[in-house]
Amino acid sequence: VAPLKARRAIGEFALIRTLHRRFAAGEPAIIRGIGDDAAVLAPRPGEWWHLTTDLLAEDVHFDLRTASFESVGYRAAVANLSDIAAMGAIPRYLLTSMAVPSRVTPSDIFRLYAGLMKACRPHGVKLIGGDTSASKTGLFLCIALIGTTARHRALFRWGAREGDFLYVTGTLGDSLAGLQLLTHSPRAAGSLSPSHRRFLVNRHLHPTARLAEGQWLNSERLATAAIDLSDGLSGDLRHICEESHVGAEVDLSKIPLSRACRAYGDAYRLDARQLALTGGEDYELLFTVAPENRTKVERQARAHGYRVTCIGIIRPRRSGIRTKSIAGHLEPLPPTSYEHFR
Ligand code: ADP
Ligand code: MG
Repeated sequence: VAPLKARRAIGEFALIRTLHRRFAAGEPAIIRGIGDDAAVLAPRPGEWWHLTTDLLAEDVHFDLRTASFESVGYRAAVANLSDIAAMGAIPRYLLTSMAVPSRVTPSDIFRLYAGLMKACRPHGVKLIGGDTSASKTGLFLCIALIGTTARHRALFRWGAREGDFLYVTGTLGDSLAGLQLLTHSPRAAGSLSPSHRRFLVNRHLHPTARLAEGQWLNSERLATAAIDLSDGLSGDLRHICEESHVGAEVDLSKIPLSRACRAYGDAYRLDARQLALTGGEDYELLFTVAPENRTKVERQARAHGYRVTCIGIIRPRRSGIRTKSIAGHLEPLPPTSYEHFR
Protein backbone atom coordinates (compact mmCIF):
# COMPACT_ATOMS: atom_id res chain seq x y z
CA VAL A 1 0.00 0.00 0.00
CA ALA A 2 1.34 3.47 -0.82
CA PRO A 3 0.13 7.04 -0.17
CA LEU A 4 -1.98 8.33 -3.05
CA LYS A 5 0.46 11.09 -4.01
CA ALA A 6 3.32 8.63 -4.12
CA ARG A 7 1.33 6.25 -6.28
CA ARG A 8 0.67 8.97 -8.85
CA ALA A 9 4.32 10.05 -8.84
CA ILE A 10 5.46 6.71 -10.18
CA GLY A 11 2.30 5.89 -12.12
CA GLU A 12 1.80 2.76 -10.11
CA PHE A 13 -1.26 1.43 -11.89
CA ALA A 14 0.22 1.78 -15.34
CA LEU A 15 3.42 0.24 -14.07
CA ILE A 16 1.67 -2.79 -12.61
CA ARG A 17 -0.35 -3.28 -15.78
CA THR A 18 2.80 -3.23 -17.85
CA LEU A 19 4.63 -5.57 -15.47
CA HIS A 20 1.71 -7.90 -15.62
CA ARG A 21 1.63 -7.85 -19.41
CA ARG A 22 5.37 -8.33 -19.81
CA PHE A 23 6.30 -10.68 -17.03
CA ALA A 24 3.34 -12.52 -15.60
CA ALA A 25 2.66 -16.02 -16.84
CA GLY A 26 0.17 -18.55 -15.63
CA GLU A 27 0.22 -22.19 -14.72
CA PRO A 28 -2.49 -24.48 -13.33
CA ALA A 29 -1.36 -24.03 -9.70
CA ILE A 30 -1.79 -20.25 -9.98
CA ILE A 31 -5.51 -19.67 -9.36
CA ARG A 32 -4.91 -15.90 -9.42
CA GLY A 33 -1.64 -14.01 -10.03
CA ILE A 34 -1.12 -10.24 -10.32
CA GLY A 35 -4.32 -8.17 -10.32
CA ASP A 36 -6.23 -9.10 -7.19
CA ASP A 37 -5.88 -8.32 -3.50
CA ALA A 38 -3.78 -11.40 -3.01
CA ALA A 39 -2.34 -14.13 -5.19
CA VAL A 40 -3.98 -17.53 -4.81
CA LEU A 41 -2.07 -20.77 -5.26
CA ALA A 42 -3.20 -24.37 -5.12
CA PRO A 43 -0.48 -26.48 -3.50
CA ARG A 44 -0.09 -30.02 -4.78
CA PRO A 45 -0.55 -32.79 -2.23
CA GLY A 46 2.71 -34.22 -0.93
CA GLU A 47 4.64 -30.95 -1.25
CA TRP A 48 6.60 -28.93 1.24
CA TRP A 49 6.76 -25.20 0.62
CA HIS A 50 9.91 -23.21 1.27
CA LEU A 51 9.47 -19.45 1.72
CA THR A 52 12.28 -16.94 1.71
CA THR A 53 12.52 -13.17 1.48
CA ASP A 54 15.35 -10.67 1.09
CA LEU A 55 15.44 -6.91 1.33
CA LEU A 56 17.96 -4.91 -0.66
CA ALA A 57 18.60 -1.28 0.21
CA GLU A 58 20.39 1.16 -2.05
CA ASP A 59 23.88 2.06 -0.79
CA VAL A 60 23.78 -0.88 1.62
CA HIS A 61 23.46 -3.82 -0.77
CA PHE A 62 24.00 -2.16 -4.12
CA ASP A 63 25.36 1.05 -5.52
CA LEU A 64 23.67 2.47 -8.60
CA ARG A 65 26.91 4.22 -9.52
CA THR A 66 28.55 0.87 -10.23
CA ALA A 67 25.62 -1.50 -10.82
CA SER A 68 22.98 -1.24 -13.54
CA PHE A 69 19.27 -1.65 -12.73
CA GLU A 70 19.38 -4.88 -14.67
CA SER A 71 22.13 -6.27 -12.44
CA VAL A 72 20.43 -5.07 -9.23
CA GLY A 73 17.32 -7.02 -10.23
CA TYR A 74 19.36 -10.00 -11.29
CA ARG A 75 21.36 -10.13 -8.04
CA ALA A 76 18.26 -9.67 -5.92
CA ALA A 77 16.71 -12.67 -7.64
CA VAL A 78 19.87 -14.75 -7.29
CA ALA A 79 20.10 -14.02 -3.55
CA ASN A 80 16.65 -15.58 -3.15
CA LEU A 81 17.16 -18.37 -5.66
CA SER A 82 20.31 -19.28 -3.77
CA ASP A 83 18.40 -19.62 -0.49
CA ILE A 84 15.96 -21.94 -2.24
CA ALA A 85 18.92 -23.86 -3.75
CA ALA A 86 20.41 -24.32 -0.28
CA MET A 87 17.15 -25.96 0.87
CA GLY A 88 17.36 -28.34 -2.09
CA ALA A 89 14.07 -26.92 -3.38
CA ILE A 90 12.67 -25.99 -6.78
CA PRO A 91 11.94 -22.23 -7.06
CA ARG A 92 8.34 -21.59 -8.18
CA TYR A 93 6.71 -18.24 -7.35
CA LEU A 94 8.04 -14.72 -6.95
CA LEU A 95 6.66 -11.60 -5.23
CA THR A 96 8.50 -8.30 -5.64
CA SER A 97 7.96 -5.17 -3.57
CA MET A 98 9.75 -1.91 -3.97
CA ALA A 99 10.00 1.66 -2.79
CA VAL A 100 11.08 3.88 -5.64
CA PRO A 101 12.61 7.37 -5.36
CA SER A 102 11.37 9.99 -7.84
CA ARG A 103 14.68 10.07 -9.75
CA VAL A 104 14.12 6.45 -10.83
CA THR A 105 12.11 6.24 -14.07
CA PRO A 106 9.66 3.55 -15.21
CA SER A 107 12.17 2.40 -17.79
CA ASP A 108 14.72 1.90 -14.98
CA ILE A 109 12.14 -0.26 -13.21
CA PHE A 110 11.54 -2.31 -16.34
CA ARG A 111 15.27 -2.90 -16.64
CA LEU A 112 15.30 -4.03 -13.02
CA TYR A 113 12.46 -6.47 -13.74
CA ALA A 114 14.19 -7.64 -16.89
CA GLY A 115 17.19 -8.54 -14.70
CA LEU A 116 14.96 -10.25 -12.15
CA MET A 117 13.20 -12.31 -14.77
CA LYS A 118 16.44 -13.13 -16.58
CA ALA A 119 17.58 -14.90 -13.41
CA CYS A 120 14.16 -16.48 -12.75
CA ARG A 121 12.83 -17.48 -16.15
CA PRO A 122 15.32 -20.30 -16.85
CA HIS A 123 13.96 -21.97 -13.72
CA GLY A 124 10.31 -21.45 -14.65
CA VAL A 125 9.69 -19.08 -11.71
CA LYS A 126 6.40 -17.16 -12.07
CA LEU A 127 5.85 -13.56 -10.91
CA ILE A 128 2.61 -13.59 -8.90
CA GLY A 129 2.53 -10.19 -7.18
CA GLY A 130 4.20 -7.48 -5.17
CA ASP A 131 3.77 -3.98 -3.86
CA THR A 132 4.88 -0.55 -5.02
CA SER A 133 5.56 2.61 -3.05
CA ALA A 134 7.45 5.87 -3.40
CA SER A 135 10.64 6.38 -1.41
CA LYS A 136 11.98 9.66 -0.04
CA THR A 137 15.49 8.25 0.14
CA GLY A 138 16.98 5.38 -1.82
CA LEU A 139 15.58 2.50 -3.82
CA PHE A 140 14.41 -0.49 -1.79
CA LEU A 141 13.70 -3.85 -3.33
CA CYS A 142 12.14 -6.73 -1.43
CA ILE A 143 11.77 -10.14 -2.99
CA ALA A 144 9.89 -13.14 -1.71
CA LEU A 145 10.33 -16.51 -3.34
CA ILE A 146 8.41 -19.73 -2.81
CA GLY A 147 10.02 -23.06 -3.61
CA THR A 148 8.84 -26.64 -3.30
CA THR A 149 10.21 -30.07 -2.46
CA ALA A 150 8.66 -33.41 -1.73
CA ARG A 151 7.49 -33.79 1.88
CA HIS A 152 10.23 -34.60 4.40
CA ARG A 153 12.85 -33.86 1.80
CA ALA A 154 14.93 -30.75 2.45
CA LEU A 155 18.48 -29.66 3.21
CA PHE A 156 18.77 -27.98 6.60
CA ARG A 157 21.63 -26.30 8.40
CA TRP A 158 21.35 -28.61 11.36
CA GLY A 159 22.26 -32.08 10.11
CA ALA A 160 26.09 -32.04 10.14
CA ARG A 161 27.78 -34.70 12.29
CA GLU A 162 31.31 -35.20 13.53
CA GLY A 163 33.37 -36.92 10.84
CA ASP A 164 31.28 -35.59 7.93
CA PHE A 165 33.27 -34.02 5.11
CA LEU A 166 32.81 -30.37 4.30
CA TYR A 167 32.29 -29.47 0.64
CA VAL A 168 31.74 -26.37 -1.48
CA THR A 169 30.52 -25.94 -5.04
CA GLY A 170 32.34 -23.72 -7.54
CA THR A 171 35.08 -21.29 -6.59
CA LEU A 172 35.15 -18.76 -3.73
CA GLY A 173 36.23 -15.12 -3.48
CA ASP A 174 35.45 -14.13 -7.06
CA SER A 175 32.53 -11.89 -6.18
CA LEU A 176 34.47 -9.87 -3.60
CA ALA A 177 37.39 -9.49 -6.01
CA GLY A 178 34.93 -8.28 -8.67
CA LEU A 179 33.33 -5.84 -6.24
CA GLN A 180 36.72 -4.44 -5.22
CA LEU A 181 37.62 -3.96 -8.88
CA LEU A 182 34.35 -2.07 -9.42
CA THR A 183 34.45 0.11 -6.33
CA HIS A 184 38.01 0.78 -5.16
CA SER A 185 39.74 0.69 -8.54
CA PRO A 186 42.73 -0.46 -6.48
CA ARG A 187 46.16 0.38 -7.81
CA ALA A 188 47.72 -2.78 -9.18
CA ALA A 189 51.10 -3.93 -8.03
CA GLY A 190 51.15 -6.24 -11.03
CA SER A 191 48.89 -6.65 -13.99
CA LEU A 192 45.52 -8.33 -14.29
CA SER A 193 44.44 -9.42 -17.75
CA PRO A 194 41.21 -7.93 -19.12
CA SER A 195 39.66 -11.39 -19.36
CA HIS A 196 40.36 -12.14 -15.68
CA ARG A 197 39.01 -8.74 -14.77
CA ARG A 198 35.86 -9.37 -16.81
CA PHE A 199 35.40 -12.79 -15.24
CA LEU A 200 35.59 -11.41 -11.67
CA VAL A 201 33.33 -8.42 -12.33
CA ASN A 202 30.83 -10.71 -14.01
CA ARG A 203 30.90 -13.12 -11.05
CA HIS A 204 29.92 -10.15 -8.90
CA LEU A 205 27.27 -8.65 -11.16
CA HIS A 206 25.84 -11.92 -12.53
CA PRO A 207 26.33 -14.66 -9.94
CA THR A 208 24.73 -18.09 -10.36
CA ALA A 209 22.48 -19.78 -7.83
CA ARG A 210 23.40 -23.46 -7.54
CA LEU A 211 19.88 -24.78 -7.96
CA ALA A 212 20.69 -27.95 -9.88
CA GLU A 213 23.37 -28.85 -7.34
CA GLY A 214 21.03 -28.25 -4.38
CA GLN A 215 18.23 -30.33 -5.91
CA TRP A 216 20.67 -33.12 -6.71
CA LEU A 217 22.11 -33.23 -3.17
CA ASN A 218 18.60 -33.22 -1.75
CA SER A 219 16.92 -35.75 -4.00
CA GLU A 220 19.85 -38.20 -3.73
CA ARG A 221 20.07 -37.63 0.05
CA LEU A 222 23.78 -36.92 -0.29
CA ALA A 223 24.16 -33.97 2.10
CA THR A 224 23.63 -34.02 5.86
CA ALA A 225 23.48 -30.19 6.01
CA ALA A 226 23.71 -27.27 3.60
CA ILE A 227 23.82 -23.48 3.45
CA ASP A 228 24.43 -21.00 0.65
CA LEU A 229 27.46 -18.73 0.84
CA SER A 230 25.95 -15.27 0.92
CA ASP A 231 27.96 -13.78 3.80
CA GLY A 232 31.25 -15.56 3.18
CA LEU A 233 32.61 -18.98 4.10
CA SER A 234 33.83 -17.83 7.49
CA GLY A 235 30.40 -16.57 8.56
CA ASP A 236 28.23 -19.17 6.88
CA LEU A 237 30.26 -22.13 8.17
CA ARG A 238 29.62 -20.75 11.64
CA HIS A 239 25.85 -21.01 10.98
CA ILE A 240 26.12 -24.69 10.03
CA CYS A 241 28.27 -25.39 13.10
CA GLU A 242 25.94 -23.56 15.45
CA GLU A 243 22.79 -25.18 14.11
CA SER A 244 24.41 -28.63 14.03
CA HIS A 245 26.22 -28.25 17.40
CA VAL A 246 29.56 -29.21 15.91
CA GLY A 247 33.00 -27.74 15.20
CA ALA A 248 34.90 -27.82 11.92
CA GLU A 249 38.33 -27.74 10.40
CA VAL A 250 38.88 -25.98 7.06
CA ASP A 251 41.98 -26.84 5.09
CA LEU A 252 43.01 -23.51 3.55
CA SER A 253 45.08 -25.23 0.87
CA LYS A 254 41.93 -26.96 -0.42
CA ILE A 255 39.76 -23.86 -0.91
CA PRO A 256 38.86 -23.74 -4.62
CA LEU A 257 40.02 -20.53 -6.27
CA SER A 258 39.46 -19.50 -9.87
CA ARG A 259 42.48 -18.65 -11.98
CA ALA A 260 41.18 -15.10 -12.20
CA CYS A 261 40.98 -14.81 -8.41
CA ARG A 262 44.55 -16.13 -8.02
CA ALA A 263 45.71 -13.64 -10.65
CA TYR A 264 43.88 -10.87 -8.78
CA GLY A 265 45.65 -11.87 -5.56
CA ASP A 266 49.01 -11.81 -7.33
CA ALA A 267 48.34 -8.48 -9.05
CA TYR A 268 47.23 -6.71 -5.88
CA ARG A 269 49.48 -8.52 -3.39
CA LEU A 270 46.48 -9.95 -1.58
CA ASP A 271 45.95 -13.38 -0.14
CA ALA A 272 43.26 -14.78 -2.45
CA ARG A 273 42.35 -17.34 0.25
CA GLN A 274 41.41 -14.52 2.60
CA LEU A 275 39.06 -13.18 -0.08
CA ALA A 276 37.59 -16.66 -0.33
CA LEU A 277 37.13 -16.92 3.46
CA THR A 278 35.59 -13.52 4.02
CA GLY A 279 34.06 -12.56 0.67
CA GLY A 280 30.28 -12.54 0.49
CA GLU A 281 27.86 -13.07 -2.38
CA ASP A 282 29.58 -16.03 -4.00
CA TYR A 283 26.24 -17.90 -3.80
CA GLU A 284 28.00 -21.25 -3.85
CA LEU A 285 26.70 -24.05 -1.63
CA LEU A 286 28.53 -25.23 1.48
CA PHE A 287 27.43 -28.73 2.47
CA THR A 288 28.43 -31.71 4.56
CA VAL A 289 28.62 -35.33 3.44
CA ALA A 290 28.71 -38.46 5.59
CA PRO A 291 31.94 -40.47 5.06
CA GLU A 292 30.07 -43.38 3.43
CA ASN A 293 28.67 -41.04 0.73
CA ARG A 294 31.91 -39.34 -0.19
CA THR A 295 32.78 -41.39 -3.26
CA LYS A 296 29.17 -41.29 -4.44
CA VAL A 297 29.10 -37.48 -4.23
CA GLU A 298 32.34 -37.13 -6.16
CA ARG A 299 31.38 -39.70 -8.79
CA GLN A 300 27.92 -38.21 -9.40
CA ALA A 301 29.25 -34.64 -9.40
CA ARG A 302 31.73 -35.59 -12.11
CA ALA A 303 29.01 -37.31 -14.12
CA HIS A 304 26.73 -34.22 -13.90
CA GLY A 305 29.56 -31.76 -14.52
CA TYR A 306 29.17 -30.08 -11.10
CA ARG A 307 32.29 -28.71 -9.47
CA VAL A 308 32.49 -29.78 -5.82
CA THR A 309 35.56 -29.60 -3.58
CA CYS A 310 36.19 -31.13 -0.17
CA ILE A 311 37.65 -28.35 2.00
CA GLY A 312 37.60 -29.88 5.45
CA ILE A 313 35.91 -32.00 8.03
CA ILE A 314 33.34 -31.65 10.82
CA ARG A 315 34.84 -31.92 14.32
CA PRO A 316 33.26 -32.13 17.76
CA ARG A 317 31.86 -28.87 19.03
CA ARG A 318 34.53 -28.46 21.71
CA SER A 319 37.30 -28.12 19.09
CA GLY A 320 35.59 -25.02 17.71
CA ILE A 321 36.02 -23.86 14.12
CA ARG A 322 39.61 -23.87 12.95
CA THR A 323 41.60 -23.38 9.80
CA LYS A 324 44.60 -25.46 8.81
CA SER A 325 47.27 -23.30 7.17
CA ILE A 326 49.31 -24.44 4.18
CA ALA A 327 52.11 -25.22 6.68
CA GLY A 328 49.68 -27.38 8.68
CA HIS A 329 49.08 -25.08 11.67
CA LEU A 330 45.61 -25.06 13.21
CA GLU A 331 44.22 -21.66 14.13
CA PRO A 332 40.78 -20.42 15.19
CA LEU A 333 38.77 -19.18 12.20
CA PRO A 334 38.78 -15.37 12.24
CA PRO A 335 35.24 -13.99 12.69
CA THR A 336 35.39 -11.75 9.64
CA SER A 337 32.44 -12.11 7.40
CA TYR A 338 30.57 -9.32 5.73
CA GLU A 339 28.01 -7.82 8.12
CA HIS A 340 26.01 -4.74 7.34
CA PHE A 341 25.74 -3.49 10.90
CA ARG A 342 29.42 -3.73 11.73
P1 ADP B 1 -2.86 -3.19 -2.66
O1 ADP B 1 -3.41 -1.81 -2.63
O2 ADP B 1 -3.75 -4.23 -2.09
O3 ADP B 1 -1.45 -3.25 -2.17
P2 ADP B 1 -1.92 -2.96 -5.34
O4 ADP B 1 -2.70 -2.00 -6.15
O5 ADP B 1 -0.62 -2.51 -4.75
O6 ADP B 1 -2.83 -3.58 -4.21
O7 ADP B 1 -1.60 -4.24 -6.22
C1 ADP B 1 -2.45 -4.70 -7.22
C2 ADP B 1 -1.88 -5.93 -7.82
O8 ADP B 1 -0.62 -5.67 -8.41
C3 ADP B 1 -1.62 -7.04 -6.80
O9 ADP B 1 -1.90 -8.27 -7.44
C4 ADP B 1 -0.15 -6.92 -6.51
O10 ADP B 1 0.39 -8.18 -6.12
C5 ADP B 1 0.39 -6.45 -7.86
N1 ADP B 1 1.61 -5.61 -7.72
C6 ADP B 1 1.70 -4.40 -7.13
N2 ADP B 1 2.97 -3.92 -7.20
C7 ADP B 1 3.68 -4.86 -7.85
C8 ADP B 1 5.04 -4.99 -8.21
N3 ADP B 1 5.94 -4.05 -7.93
N4 ADP B 1 5.44 -6.12 -8.86
C9 ADP B 1 4.55 -7.09 -9.14
N5 ADP B 1 3.25 -7.03 -8.83
C10 ADP B 1 2.82 -5.94 -8.18
MG1 MG C 1 0.09 -2.31 -3.03
